[in-house]
Amino acid sequence: MYLKNSKTVVIKIGSSLLINEKKIIRKKWLSEFAKDIKHLKDDNKNIILVSSGAIALGCKKLNLSKKNLKLDKSQAVASIGQIELMNLFNKTFSNKKISISQILLTLEDTEQRRRAINAKRTFDNLFKLSFVPVVNENDSIATSEIKYGDNDRLASRVAQISSADCLILLSDVDGLYTKNPKINKNAELIKEIKNIDINIEKIAKKSIGEHGTGGMKTKIDAAKVCQLSGCSMAIANGMYQRPIKKILENNECTWFLPKVSKLDARKKWIISSISPKGELVIDDGAINALKKGNSLLATGIKKIYGKFNKGDHVKILDKNMKEYARGLSSFTSDEISKIQGQHSNKINELLGYVSKSEVVHKDDMVEV
Ligand code: GLU
Repeated sequence: MYLKNSKTVVIKIGSSLLINEKKIIRKKWLSEFAKDIKHLKDDNKNIILVSSGAIALGCKKLNLSKKNLKLDKSQAVASIGQIELMNLFNKTFSNKKISISQILLTLEDTEQRRRAINAKRTFDNLFKLSFVPVVNENDSIATSEIKYGDNDRLASRVAQISSADCLILLSDVDGLYTKNPKINKNAELIKEIKNIDINIEKIAKKSIGEHGTGGMKTKIDAAKVCQLSGCSMAIANGMYQRPIKKILENNECTWFLPKVSKLDARKKWIISSISPKGELVIDDGAINALKKGNSLLATGIKKIYGKFNKGDHVKILDKNMKEYARGLSSFTSDEISKIQGQHSNKINELLGYVSKSEVVHKDDMVEV
């Protein structure tokens, strides 16, 4: 079972699950859902929630209609509604002894490697603290050209960045059916999809859309991102009480299976397209440490070539200038020239500010 076997799980909640057409908050649903999350956490899983609802809750508070809302006004509404949303989560989840935090992302945060890597670190640290991050798009800042606009695709990027094993898109449809189930008695729920071929695209196009922003199109787009990130993705009906329990018990949903392994996907993402901006020559001790799967520390760096920024792609060479690995530098080239050959506990003093201790973190490095 994909969910059962996952360590890191991203769950996307559409607005229609939190607030109904009459603008009534579905409090009972959310407190039952918190039990689902408690259950997953007790099973030692890392959970990230991607929740819509800022605009819907902002509209409720201001007594406005979501239709006809212009972008600039919706940004103000989102800013008002986001607090409502987090208050709702905080109140409901703290009753179940679950601690939550908030992360607001823009498209740029997920597309730029450096910011994305920083976001991953933040997720990892929140997991260590046993918090459940609740993510939404930063609707108050993002303008239409630089906006996801739907949380399906945002959730798939969050799954990719956090190296999640599975993403569950909870909406108000059961998944993808072979035909429209409302008019065809013999319509069947498609349980597993390996390839998103023309046929699947056609079915998705025709399928009855949910009320939220995305509909089926953005869910298929999200599935494509997941397939290439080594992440399984489900479209499931969240309208039931305890929808996650239901997936664990009956598996009544549509699963999209990954096309590559998670590790291969991440490595590819690290070294893809951009050309290395610099080179770090390291000593034998550091090479041995890397072979054992450790991060690269300043102490093992002998020489540095090129000018680069934090998050830039660098080559890691042995003393004979043979390339051993590639990775993303946590420091600028100027910073490395100040700390090379030094012990990690001296870094803060040498730079004059508190900093990370790994020059290239093991998770951001690929052997070549
Ligand atoms: N970020 C939007 C909100 O919180 C929702 C986007 C969506 O419906 O997917 O209201």
